Amino acid sequence: MFQHVANSAKSPYTLPSKYLRGKIVRIIPEKCKKCLTCIEVCPVRAISEKDGKVTIDKDECLGCGCCAASCPNAAIEYE
Ligand code: SF4
Ligand code: SF4
Repeated sequence: MFQHVANSAKSPYTLPSKYLRGKIVRIIPEKCKKCLTCIEVCPVRAISEKDGKVTIDKDECLGCGCCAASCPNAAIEYE
């Protein structure tokens, strides 16, 4: 998987400490305003909205942190 390559000791890239690849993210329902910005930015389309609820498919999520960084309501966090 991509995150394993990026986190390997041989990787030339330094990941931002705020967003650690490989961690599972979750959406805090009380904070989510359903703006759908996170759905647009997710590179693997792991986020979807159904029945008025925005959820993350943990099997598809890469832990890149794009969704958390883009959420205007700080409604996405790492578990
Ligand atoms: S970007 Fe944040 S507020 Fe907007 S739908 Fe996603 S989790 Fe909810
Ligand atoms: S962390 Fe990255 S891959 Fe996972 S849901 Fe957010 S944007 Fe998509």
